[in-house]
Amino acid sequence: MDLHTPVLALHPIAKKIGSALKRIGIETVADLIFYYPARYDDFSTFVPIAALRPGVVATVRGTIQLMRNQRAWKKRLLVTEAIIQDSSGSVKAVWFGQYYVSKILKPGDEVYLAGRVDADRGVVFYSPSFEKVTKAKEGGGTHTGRLVPVYSLTKGISSKQLRYLVSLAWKALPALADYLPAALVRQLHFPALSAAVRQIHFPDSQVSLERARQRLQFEEIFLLQLKNQLVRRRLRQLPASPVSFHEAEIKRFVSSLPFVLTPAQRRSAWEIVKDLGRPYPMNRLLEGDVGSGKTVVASLALLNTALGGAQAALMAPTEILARQHYTTIRQLLQGQKFLIGLLTRTESRVNDTLVDKRELIAGLKDGRVKVVVGTHALIQGKIQFHHLALAVVDEQHRFGVAQRQALQDKSGETSRVPHFLSMTATPIPRSLALTLYGDLDLSILDTLPAGRKKIITKIVSPADRAKAYDFIRQQVAAGPNGAPLGQAFVICPLIDPSDKLGVRSVTEEHKKLDTEVFPDLVIGCLHGRLKSAERERVMADFVAGKVKILVATSVVEVGVDVPNASVMMIEGAERFGLAQLHQFRGRVGRSSHQSYCFLFTDTESENSRARLQTLVDSNDGFALAEADLRFRGAGEMFGTSQSGESDLKLANLFDVQRIKQAQQWVGRVMAEDPDLANHPLLRAKIGELGRAHLE
Ligand code: ADP
Ligand code: MG
Repeated sequence: MDLHTPVLALHPIAKKIGSALKRIGIETVADLIFYYPARYDDFSTFVPIAALRPGVVATVRGTIQLMRNQRAWKKRLLVTEAIIQDSSGSVKAVWFGQYYVSKILKPGDEVYLAGRVDADRGVVFYSPSFEKVTKAKEGGGTHTGRLVPVYSLTKGISSKQLRYLVSLAWKALPALADYLPAALVRQLHFPALSAAVRQIHFPDSQVSLERARQRLQFEEIFLLQLKNQLVRRRLRQLPASPVSFHEAEIKRFVSSLPFVLTPAQRRSAWEIVKDLGRPYPMNRLLEGDVGSGKTVVASLALLNTALGGAQAALMAPTEILARQHYTTIRQLLQGQKFLIGLLTRTESRVNDTLVDKRELIAGLKDGRVKVVVGTHALIQGKIQFHHLALAVVDEQHRFGVAQRQALQDKSGETSRVPHFLSMTATPIPRSLALTLYGDLDLSILDTLPAGRKKIITKIVSPADRAKAYDFIRQQVAAGPNGAPLGQAFVICPLIDPSDKLGVRSVTEEHKKLDTEVFPDLVIGCLHGRLKSAERERVMADFVAGKVKILVATSVVEVGVDVPNASVMMIEGAERFGLAQLHQFRGRVGRSSHQSYCFLFTDTESENSRARLQTLVDSNDGFALAEADLRFRGAGEMFGTSQSGESDLKLANLFDVQRIKQAQQWVGRVMAEDPDLANHPLLRAKIGELGRAHLE
């Protein structure tokens, strides 16, 4: 048996719970042993039965004197009782609805019992952990008599089953070869891999648990950073088309803008222009809060590329966004001599004029269309460019290997890789970005253009709901000059009603607002289960002002501009992360009139209230992201879809010392052995990490 062995081969139990295992990502023995416990029950104290006191958590060792099942007369609940005796005395144990206990434990068996001691006319264990004492378990068990691992699980699987499987795997596995450089392990006084993994599941003591944790935390950060550095290095070895800086034209462009660029915009634009001039591909993330002015910066890059005679593409996640970007970019680049195209599923344009799709495609192929805006369809299907030198992507943090390859194949210059710029409105603090996105260079727009009106944010309790609706009615009825203008968003955590009390759903709220609260207004409904064409249509109706109030799930999160929207109302606000709430809030306040954000919540939790209060107090996306991380952790913040983040299970991203230490070691390894030729295990381990592909 080795790490690649399917977990199902371990034991019939694994087969029985196979689908549950798969749901938590466990398919091989490696998945299993690298699935770390969420916490531990400390059952390490052995106590003579006579010394048990209520409230104490302990393990006892004794012999079963009596075992019986009976029905509690009222509830028909099955109650299993046992009496366990050691040389000092005896104690009762009770299990509810667990008939199988009486199948396993028989009078005369010697057992360990562990749990919290309760009182009921004497001491008693309610639903204690138990296991039979065997020769192998003389010193203590797997589920008792030690620090016992507790895993975060899904339906159909128990910690006891997982512990059993881990211990089986552990017995059958040869020692794990350590992939960390030996010098590193030695100098940082880390336990070897085998010992660390063993101790993280079945710690001998708090001290050895802590040492194991230190190493495993360190290695997550180290491996992630090393992977990023390897990707960065590999990209530097690829050829790209250098695009020179067209200084005079760019200066003219900047001075033609109806506003002055912020210092952050200037700095970022300059960083991008410099990158474009290099003979290897740019790989840059332009990070800036909602409204920080990323589009202008991107336009400048598109312009500079087109001026150099090459082509540039901007890709957006939805058709509406593509269309909005196109309008903006056409405006910003008006008066330029080259052609600017739009390509979405439903629409093709060249310099605003509707054209046949084939015409646009031909223009891309022969190079007459220099700048093109579209959805990701641009790099799928039949499209071929004449000479694509720059790809800008909105709201996607990084480009995967396959996408990069597709770009290269379509670029018209297959021997060269296009420069890549991605833009995101998810503010990621710089320190965190360096760890998570070390393969990307960063440009951060950390100052908003001057003169923005602050969005008024309020936490609203259920009692004030009617007032809030009245307020929305006023806003929606009359815009700033009495003209009927305003629009509102209502965000709900769920699509359908659920049995979770009080959690609001889009379908329910839509019906209520449409028929009871605002029967005279057009109310739209938007969620992820609608077909994408339908979603686009609803959103387009809202942008056009036909729909006054849009009830939606979090699908409205990214980038769409609805200048007339002035109210953002969020139901069950405590269920969203701060970064996400801030994104919702960014959907309003896009014009000169005052906008509002209402956070509806009935939570009693102090923590949740404090979290929402930060949103009321702060408008700074970076500060909120940082707060979010502290309240909820990185996994919650990013979900698991963004590669890289999901490889972090234990690491603490606020441990600046650790991160620095890992960085230093990455630097050392890269300096001595940049291809990891002398570190084959490390190389293989990195290859396994979230879609790294170094070949
Ligand atoms: P985002 O970063 O959210 O994509 P946009 O690029 O859509 O932001 O810019 C938001 C608005 O701010 C646009 O209307 C844009 O014209 C305007 N804007 C951009 N830069 C500046 C600036 N330096 N001064 C004033 N307004 C600006
Ligand atoms: Mg934008």
